[in-house]
Amino acid sequence: MNVNQHTPMASPYGQPQPGYGQPGYAPLDGGYPAPYAPYNGPSSAYQPGAPPQGPARGPPTSGAPPISAPQPYNQYSQGDMQNGPPPMTQAPPRPAASQLYNQGAVNLSGPQPSYPQNYGPQPSMQQVTSQMTGMQITSGAPTPTGPGYAPPRSSQHPASTAYSAAPPPSYTQAPPPASSAPTQPPPPSGPAASQQYYGGPPPPSQQPFNSSLPPTSQRQFPSPGLPPSSSQQTFPPSSYSGPPPFSSAPPPPPPSQPHPYQSGPPPIRTQMPPTSMAQSNHLPPGPQGPQCPPGPMQQPPSQPGMQGGYPPQQNGAFGQGRGPQPGYAGPYPGQPNYGAPAPAPAPGPPAQKRLDPDAIPSPIQVIEDDRAKCTEPFNTGVRGQVPPLVTTNFQAKDQGNASPRFVRCTAYNVPCTADMAKQSQVPLAAVIKPLATLPPDETPPYLVDHGEAGPVRCNRCKAYMCPYMQFIEGGRRFQCGFCSCVTEVPPHYFQHLDHTGKRVDCYDRPELSLGSYEFVATVDYCKNNKIPQPPAFIFLIDVSYNAVKSGMVNIVCQELKTLLDYLPRENPEMDSVVRVGFVTYNKVLHFYNVKASLAQPQMLVVSDVSDMFVPLLDGFLVNVNESRLVIESLLDQIPEMFADTRETETVFGPVIQAGLEALKAADCSGKLFVFHTSLPIAEAPGKLKNREDKKLVGTDKEKSLFQPQVGFYNTLAKECVAQGCCVDLFLFPNQYVDVATLGVVPVSTGGSIYKYTYFQAQSDTERFLNDLRRDIQKLVGFDAVMRVRTSTGIRATDFFGSFFMSNTTDVELAGLDCDKAITVEFKHDDKLSEETGALMQCAVLYTSCSGQRRLRVHNMAVNCCSQLADLYRNCETDTIINFFSKYAFRGLLNNPTKAVRDTLINQCAQILACYRKNCASPSSAGQLILPECMKLLPVYLNCVLKSDVLMPGADVSLDDRAYLRQLISGMDVTESHIFFYPRLLPLTKLESGSLPMAVRDSEERLSKGGVYLLETGLHLFLWVGASVQQELLLNIFGTQSFSQIDPSLTSLPVLDNPFSQRLRDIIESFRAQRSRYMKLMVVKQEDKAELIFRHFLVEDKSVSGGASYVDFLCHMHKEIRQLLS
Ligand SMILES: [Zn+2]
Repeated sequence: MNVNQHTPMASPYGQPQPGYGQPGYAPLDGGYPAPYAPYNGPSSAYQPGAPPQGPARGPPTSGAPPISAPQPYNQYSQGDMQNGPPPMTQAPPRPAASQLYNQGAVNLSGPQPSYPQNYGPQPSMQQVTSQMTGMQITSGAPTPTGPGYAPPRSSQHPASTAYSAAPPPSYTQAPPPASSAPTQPPPPSGPAASQQYYGGPPPPSQQPFNSSLPPTSQRQFPSPGLPPSSSQQTFPPSSYSGPPPFSSAPPPPPPSQPHPYQSGPPPIRTQMPPTSMAQSNHLPPGPQGPQCPPGPMQQPPSQPGMQGGYPPQQNGAFGQGRGPQPGYAGPYPGQPNYGAPAPAPAPGPPAQKRLDPDAIPSPIQVIEDDRAKCTEPFNTGVRGQVPPLVTTNFQAKDQGNASPRFVRCTAYNVPCTADMAKQSQVPLAAVIKPLATLPPDETPPYLVDHGEAGPVRCNRCKAYMCPYMQFIEGGRRFQCGFCSCVTEVPPHYFQHLDHTGKRVDCYDRPELSLGSYEFVATVDYCKNNKIPQPPAFIFLIDVSYNAVKSGMVNIVCQELKTLLDYLPRENPEMDSVVRVGFVTYNKVLHFYNVKASLAQPQMLVVSDVSDMFVPLLDGFLVNVNESRLVIESLLDQIPEMFADTRETETVFGPVIQAGLEALKAADCSGKLFVFHTSLPIAEAPGKLKNREDKKLVGTDKEKSLFQPQVGFYNTLAKECVAQGCCVDLFLFPNQYVDVATLGVVPVSTGGSIYKYTYFQAQSDTERFLNDLRRDIQKLVGFDAVMRVRTSTGIRATDFFGSFFMSNTTDVELAGLDCDKAITVEFKHDDKLSEETGALMQCAVLYTSCSGQRRLRVHNMAVNCCSQLADLYRNCETDTIINFFSKYAFRGLLNNPTKAVRDTLINQCAQILACYRKNCASPSSAGQLILPECMKLLPVYLNCVLKSDVLMPGADVSLDDRAYLRQLISGMDVTESHIFFYPRLLPLTKLESGSLPMAVRDSEERLSKGGVYLLETGLHLFLWVGASVQQELLLNIFGTQSFSQIDPSLTSLPVLDNPFSQRLRDIIESFRAQRSRYMKLMVVKQEDKAELIFRHFLVEDKSVSGGASYVDFLCHMHKEIRQLLS
């Protein structure tokens, strides 16, 4: 081989070599001030300097540890004792709480071609909103209802407020049932016709599903009012079995039905500003169920076929409408008229009221309210306190429990008994992101070194020393907060207690005062009792025809020449200890000897791939600095060597085996970066065949498409995990590659999958390189094992994420990076005590990128409650949705998709019905009453149900679904939130320093004269209205007219005006907050590409059959009523 001069590739990525400071490289985003300092500032030295004093347990607030001073916090170890009160010091000033920080990372890659654009006609908004006017939605704090339920504390949440639909001004025409008697605007508390609607079991005569729409739809719901175009939505009318929609009839007196809560006085109603949901008190109970007088004639046509009550479980399939995919036709009937109280007399014909979208819970309002409420840093010292939402910028202060950046729970008040938990159906789970990157104003976990003695642990359950250990007998022993066992304090760890029984060095030791910290692990915690070798990175590059032709090979090789200088390290001052190795492959594998002493790299070809081995040991894994010239030579030559290849077949299994064998030979853990293009059909272990069969979609066999087609990769994954070999897979497919199978190893080893369908150097390079740069540089731990311990009465029973488990308790992660989250579910195995609460300790043993073995510990205590109301008052819906999505997406492996969807809907209905039954104030069954903390559960759950994974459009490929399914399994709450409910910002006015307030994800929020930015965490769209103001055009695009906008733009022109600058800054800041680079896509209103964009307007009905928010809410209400009856 020749050492060639670097052929300056037209560097599309043009980044200067040495400094990664340029835009291209620095990108690691705001949250990553020092791109190369992994662990945002290594948790290096713990500085005991200034322990805050005082009753409140304060974290050592001495500020972030100096990055470069890795001095272990070992001053007290080994026999050092400190007597006397802890030094008093002033706590350092708090960092500004206003720092912008969006934690979170995201997943997928930008908009991909893989989302084809056939999104079909869009549903008309009108119909969507035209239903149910009279439905009342109340959310509020539980009020005392039954015996034993304490009144809500007003201090926490507003008392239950009813979201009654404000009388919608607009009436969409419904076919005029003769019935409509003149309707009167509902007096505030007036009888709402709507109530009737929802009240009670459906009249026997109703026809279950009539969706007015879809041509292909199976059953049609005769709703006259719907436009034909709405064919997608199939909401079963069943949901509205109540009285006829039109409420013109005078409200029946409150039914005397034995409704337990009926007698209570209605809450006071208050009106909220327009965009917020109108809050009002419950309307007087309307007629319920059977008692309801049949409405005036509504939807006459439909009546005939309708059967009486819809079986509760029947809902489920929302999808329908989509012809091609059989299985998704569901019982979600189209949009019936949801009777509603008629605010105003309907003019002439059928006046159908539309449910005012402003009258149902708004995600934007909830997000804004939470932001407004959050003015102080969030201190973690108060047990059971719900943290700010993930959408709120806040500063977290560790005062004894893990920060919400590391751990978020579905409930911060856990039911005391299994029965209560079962009754509520609220999942008890925590989403843990063990190595999360913290914003610059928060202190990373301190590193505690107890020397050879290692961490102090409970003798019985082995929990690590933490703030929940109670010291007794003058400090000579401690009682475990998890299992109550009493353990001797080792002599070197002894300390006296103060008059309150607290150790006097409490605030000097992170493990006694903080929720999160790290211990230096001793050799006992190392594999085979040997201090680990530094990890290695191995790059395995597909050099088959497609890989070369697409430009991928060239781009990867060119980039690595620079990127190898930015391998992860804990001390930015020092070189990374990570060694590197290189392999290229098609049907055979080529290993490279890049030993520093060689003048030229040497290639060794292994053509027998049936039993992979590594043909060289010395010279394969090298230090970048030592072998720089040889490596650069190699990277220059690879593209040339394969420039004329005709080889189209590839192998895949042997590629991973090669990397694994190399790590085994070097006796180290590490990461494989595999750049791969095609289905591995060449003869070799792990060979695959094309099994893509869209006909299976929607059938009971659909689940097989998510399962690997061969068992080979499961076995291989297990071997990788045993070695600490993490695999990151970069896919560049032009057709089906079977992501479900190729992804087995990455997903089982804690790795990541990136997918660039129809990769084109010109348009996709930026996204790919940004992903690659971040992936290589980010903080990662290797050969990790995570164990979650809990206090008596509760235990971790299930785990969701990218990892492997060979027993029921240890989560094994060959690699664990700062973006990965693991969701853990808990179940009761005994009664819990309100007094002691419930404790959780998550300990992750891993090898740092510098080769040090460590234990990261996160502790979390939550309250236990004997009142369901307390549970419902202290939940976090975003976390519940994270859990539900992972639970459902995993369920796809073994269950028909429809069953998975039905399960989700049923569980959600049970959660809300339990609240209604046990916690809500008396009201009519016609009212939908939602807990304040869960008022967005329906809208978010609907987003999960209509995601491409559970309800694919006809054009969503199986690979896309498998990819998303795997991606979401590793998401934290921030990522899953924006993935399911994208952020939509109007850009008419931009002020520096603050973002415009987002609007709801619905087409009706878009103005033709405006420009909007939509962010999903994976995609970024700039939507331009057809009548956009000229000033905006000039400011953003520098063009005079709408038609001159180039829709193929992936970046905005750099114009010299403040608006342009601000908009580009916003886009960059969004990208910086996500773990994957979001490519920008410009969407002109009414262009073809708008169909892709509309897919993310998740409150609207989707082309693939997903219900609109309004329809889903009605459906959910019906489900709840059925459960209550
Ligand atoms: Zn214990």
